[in-house]
Amino acid sequence: MISVPQALQLVHDHTKKTENITTLPIIKALGHVIVSDIISPIHMPPFRQSAMDGYALGSIEEDNFILSGEIKAGDIENPNIKKGEAIRIFTGAPVPPSAKAVIMQEKVTVSGNQISTQGSVSLHANIRPIGEQIKKGDIALPKGTLITAAGIGYLATLGITTVTVYQKPSIAIITTGNELIPPGQSLLHGQIYESNSAMLQGACTQSGFSNITCYKVVDEYTATIDLIRDTIENHDVILISGGISVGDYDFVGKALRALAVEEVFYKVKQKPGKPLYFAKKQEKIIFALPGNPASSLSCFYIYVLPALLKTCGNTHSSTKRGTAISNTNYSKKGERAEFLKAIISENNVTILDGQASSMLRSFSVANAMVYLPEEVSNVEIGDPVQIVNLP
Ligand code: AMP
Ligand code: MG
Repeated sequence: MISVPQALQLVHDHTKKTENITTLPIIKALGHVIVSDIISPIHMPPFRQSAMDGYALGSIEEDNFILSGEIKAGDIENPNIKKGEAIRIFTGAPVPPSAKAVIMQEKVTVSGNQISTQGSVSLHANIRPIGEQIKKGDIALPKGTLITAAGIGYLATLGITTVTVYQKPSIAIITTGNELIPPGQSLLHGQIYESNSAMLQGACTQSGFSNITCYKVVDEYTATIDLIRDTIENHDVILISGGISVGDYDFVGKALRALAVEEVFYKVKQKPGKPLYFAKKQEKIIFALPGNPASSLSCFYIYVLPALLKTCGNTHSSTKRGTAISNTNYSKKGERAEFLKAIISENNVTILDGQASSMLRSFSVANAMVYLPEEVSNVEIGDPVQIVNLP
């Protein structure tokens, strides 16, 4: 059995960035990573732009000016302003080349068609020069940049409509278990509602992975082989829930062995999620997650999500790690590393009751997990502990 750090390293080492790229409208590119440098097609701003509502001045040495016109945002006039003249101008409007500065209207007294200024004005004050933000031909965003809302806005300001990005993986979620029935039906004795597919779908979508297909299979050897074989053919990432433990009706491990996938590891010294399994088939990656819902989700955040992000070139973790001060006393029962559902507020973290791997109640209100490595066996109130923030 390997340790948590070893398992993390192996997942990292065996997950490759995709070579599949796609061109998307910028609005659809949120959360994608750009493949090559984006070059600005224009100067931004494209013209000398007023940064204020005020007056464009023909000189900066005088205090009194004759008003000789008006330019508002969107106007295309380009009048000549002579010494001793001023033009009423508004934020975003083009400043004529002959204007020496813009003075804000709060610093001006108007009487009839004359203005007088209070205080001195420096040359080019309140004028955004051409290309102040970026010049035509310069790199607007370097390759590898994650597209954010600000990035979409920035590309739009440059008139860019599409962007070439790494494709997000196509994900298969397979649930196994004869006892599982879809929510909405009545439960017979011995049945429970199937919750992992909806939960994992939610976790994927929340982090920007929405190309998901859900499958289910009964606890039966050949059916399990057939479904896993099909999903490996048709998807990039395969997430299997349940059936990976050692029971007589756990067929996932046997099926994966029969399909000759390259097993990277099986079993991690952790709680929850000991039976976690990770394999590859060419560039496809396969996680078999323990069926207990909290184990499945915990393994998703710790191992699957970083792998999903890596496949599409995203180096930003959506599960930020750090330390916080424990509000709770806690004693480990065994020697495995533990991931504990917790609530973090400011820099204090409370370990929740109900940590069993079958329970989602505490997970549903948690915003972090406390990570206790193998060597930590006790936590006392006031101790610093490692935390993983949930997205
Ligand atoms: P397994 O890993 O298949 O042995 O399942 C472990 C426990 O998790 C069992 O109690 C299962 O009933 C439960 N379980 C497995 N898969 C799911 C699922 N998709 N939704 C809800 N519970 C599940
Ligand atoms: Mg099962």
